Amino acid sequence: MTRTSYLEKPHSTAFSPHAVVLSGLVKTYGSGPARTTVLEDVSLAFPRRSFTAVMGPSGSGKSTLLQCAAGLDRPDSGSVMIEGIELTALDELALTRLRRDRLGFVFQSYNLVPTLTVRQNVTLPGELAGRRVDSGRVLDMLTRLGLAEHLDARPAQLSGGQQQRVSIARALLSDPAVIFADEPTGALDSHAGAEVLALLRNSVDTGGRTVVMVTHDPIAAAMADAVVFFADGRVADSLLRPTADTVAARMTALGGVR
Ligand code: ADP
Ligand code: MG
Repeated sequence: MTRTSYLEKPHSTAFSPHAVVLSGLVKTYGSGPARTTVLEDVSLAFPRRSFTAVMGPSGSGKSTLLQCAAGLDRPDSGSVMIEGIELTALDELALTRLRRDRLGFVFQSYNLVPTLTVRQNVTLPGELAGRRVDSGRVLDMLTRLGLAEHLDARPAQLSGGQQQRVSIARALLSDPAVIFADEPTGALDSHAGAEVLALLRNSVDTGGRTVVMVTHDPIAAAMADAVVFFADGRVADSLLRPTADTVAARMTALGGVR
């Protein structure tokens, strides 16, 4: 993996070494004088089997970038390729299917259904998709994530770290190629956060997945293979093989990137 792999615009085919290729993404909100440009011509390519952290000040467009990359939001212009498939060309049904079958999402706030048990929360997406959900696989997944004793618990009965592990189990169960995580450790203490980061790291190293994670924490970013620094809707910098120290130094150099 080279530094340029994050910044160049590679050819995007099914054989692309990149799981996600974003080219010239522009996203604006509002109209008239209230119009704001949130993404200004963002081009990034995320190699298969890589773990990338995205950092930058609050309001710089990180969540918007993830939402566009994951097909949850549509850019005004530019291209989003997931495994060689152009998302912006898909209709809603095809986009929903691709999201369901190839992508996973992890949010800071877990997004679990409070009235459902752990087991039900994890199996729900598959059931809604009309898939047969293998209960043995669900049990195996929840056991590996340390949740075997909480299968019938409701989210409110769990710690934040446990809830985030449920949301990761839910994401992993559909066997996604790419996992997008928006500040997944933002609400967790350092111990629970480290467990969640280890799961994401392992999903790349052992599961062969591609992870793109927004974080504010240099220690979390140091778990990634590379860090992309974002500012004012643009890529400001990138760093390979980050350590907490090099990330913190780069943030300082970029001036007030918190
Ligand atoms: P970050 O995740 O880096 O904090 P966001 O992508 O959430 O940044 O937001 C970037 C900018 O876009 C902010 O100024 C925010 O107010 C604005 N924004 C985000 N979503 C919307 C929306 N749905 N409507 C209008 N403005 C939005
Ligand atoms: Mg955000």
